[in-house]
Amino acid sequence: MPRRTGFDSRRYRGRSLRARPQARGAAKSRLVMGLLFAGIAFMSYQCSSEYNPVTGEEQHISITAEQEIALGLQAAPEMMAQHGGEHPDRSAQAMVDRVGQRLVQQSRASETNWKFDFHLLRDPQTVNAFALPGGQVFITAALFTRLNTEGELAGVLGHEIGHVVARHSAQRMAKQALTQGITGAVLIAAGGGDGEAQMAQMIGNMINMKYGREDELESDQLGVMFMAQAGYDPHALLGVMEILDEAAGEQAPPEWLSTHPSNDNRLQTIQREIDLLFPEGIPAGLQK
Ligand SMILES: [Zn+2]
Repeated sequence: MPRRTGFDSRRYRGRSLRARPQARGAAKSRLVMGLLFAGIAFMSYQCSSEYNPVTGEEQHISITAEQEIALGLQAAPEMMAQHGGEHPDRSAQAMVDRVGQRLVQQSRASETNWKFDFHLLRDPQTVNAFALPGGQVFITAALFTRLNTEGELAGVLGHEIGHVVARHSAQRMAKQALTQGITGAVLIAAGGGDGEAQMAQMIGNMINMKYGREDELESDQLGVMFMAQAGYDPHALLGVMEILDEAAGEQAPPEWLSTHPSNDNRLQTIQREIDLLFPEGIPAGLQK
């Protein structure tokens, strides 16, 4: 539920303002306070500019990297519970770990301090993969079992690593904080009482977070880069798109299917990124 910020002057003007001078005074100070908070929120959004060395962007983020990692870790159990928990197949889990770590360690993602952890989830129905801020990455068994090659798994995980490295969740949180007239840092520093309720709400928001189109395309580009740097043929990401396309026909589309931009557009972006990285064609010997 959206919190009232006190910036609600119209209601006062319409009803009680003329009736009682006292109420008018209160309304005025509420308006001033509201403007003040909105101003502070806007200023802190504008001032919280950080350079992201991997994407080369200036981005607005209102929490620290440590807070981002902590938030992701806090939200992870609920996320896993929603998809039946960790998958019992240890060798499949180990494969997800190995491919994820290879992507992180052998690419520019290794220049970051995110705490990456890769989880295979039991859910046999929902074709999906997602990442929480700070480095918790998940893939469901329903998607995992549809993949044909290790390269395709690298495509899925590379894209999710892209969301983490580009700090898409934290950017969305900063925007949310701006629209609610609060700053993430204040919110987290608050602790106790109201702070806890806010925290729970933030974690809820994070789990249901939908990324924008631009975020998805950027994650595709980063995914292609990480794959190639880690020795995977980035064309495998095109194979993933085909698998998602087929799955979209069969079931209600979850995160990877519904919020991702239309496939045509994505295929072009991925191909363009591959051509940019390998103008002379991709080197021989990359893993499919
Ligand atoms: Zn995505």
